[in-house]
Amino acid sequence: MKTIRMEEMNWVDIGDAIKSGFTTVVIGIGSTEQHGPHLPTHTDTIIGDILANKIALKLENALQAQTIRVGCSDHHLSFPGTISLEKDTLKAIIFDYVRSLSKHGFQKIIFIPSHGGNFVATQEAIEELQSKYQDIKIIGYTNILKFIMYEWQIANEFGITNEEAGVHAGEVETSQVLALAENQVRKERFKPGYLGSYSAEIEKLVYEKGISALSEIGVLGDPTHADMEKGKVYIEKLADNLTNDIRKLLSSKK
Ligand SMILES: [Zn+2]
Repeated sequence: MKTIRMEEMNWVDIGDAIKSGFTTVVIGIGSTEQHGPHLPTHTDTIIGDILANKIALKLENALQAQTIRVGCSDHHLSFPGTISLEKDTLKAIIFDYVRSLSKHGFQKIIFIPSHGGNFVATQEAIEELQSKYQDIKIIGYTNILKFIMYEWQIANEFGITNEEAGVHAGEVETSQVLALAENQVRKERFKPGYLGSYSAEIEKLVYEKGISALSEIGVLGDPTHADMEKGKVYIEKLADNLTNDIRKLLSSKK
């Protein structure tokens, strides 16, 4: 097969692939939201899309369905260009993905949120779906702490602190976008944002008051030391770690 991206395939080849054993489908869940003055608003979407693609390839016998491009971003709405879904809207989209894909012979459906605001909606949706579709394994990678920890571990190996790596438009995400879409990055605008610790209390403040309560420029972290080569490593290692965890989730689920 030339591609595992179903949006680039036709129904004949998709049907043949499923019949020949490609019975797993992976879906990224990104966002359309501000990512500081230097990154494009589809940052989480292009990261989620490449992670879902790599995870599907690593799992083998898996196809990739179209990445969900908009997510739950109310905490970014004070910035122009952010488009946010209500939690129930995102859940409804996830329900409809499963309602559709379950008709085609997929036995495992895996959702990969790449934006913090989507994890709760994904978790809730998966719980509700699993009782309805008992013959299909439906998995969501909903451990946001682990997701961030993996990013920070890799950052630390590069000598980047957790605070610089950040959780939003900092060194990690900026390096990833440099690797994926360098021409969309405004390097002359790299500037540190919030560099304090990211505790549960701080996270609560972000969701309640919006990200501008912490950083006027909408950045949590410091993009100054971002670079493309590191970005490639972040993407590859993150995909490895997530794939390993998904394998465990798949084998632990009946
Ligand atoms: Zn992001």
